Amino acid sequence: MKIGDLVEVKGCPPFVEIPTKKCGCFFCTGKSNRIGYVISVAPRDGFQVMFDCGAFQLDAIDEAVGGVEVIDIDQRAPEVRSER
Ligand SMILES: [Zn+2]
Repeated sequence: MKIGDLVEVKGCPPFVEIPTKKCGCFFCTGKSNRIGYVISVAPRDGFQVMFDCGAFQLDAIDEAVGGVEVIDIDQRAPEVRSER
């Protein structure tokens, strides 16, 4: 993860024991599409990431455990890159 990266936050696990319970996290309450843009560095190896529902700090550990994935735009759409 670095400044300028697009990142995607993985979905929250469902509440198996209480199906009617809703997740109260930043992304669920904000109805975010969970895709964000890394705008700056933050303390403790973290990054400030701008999502559609607002800014949120992600830490290096979030990426290490697989909760956050960097989206490789070049790999997904090489034809877009060549048109620039
Ligand atoms: Zn959630």
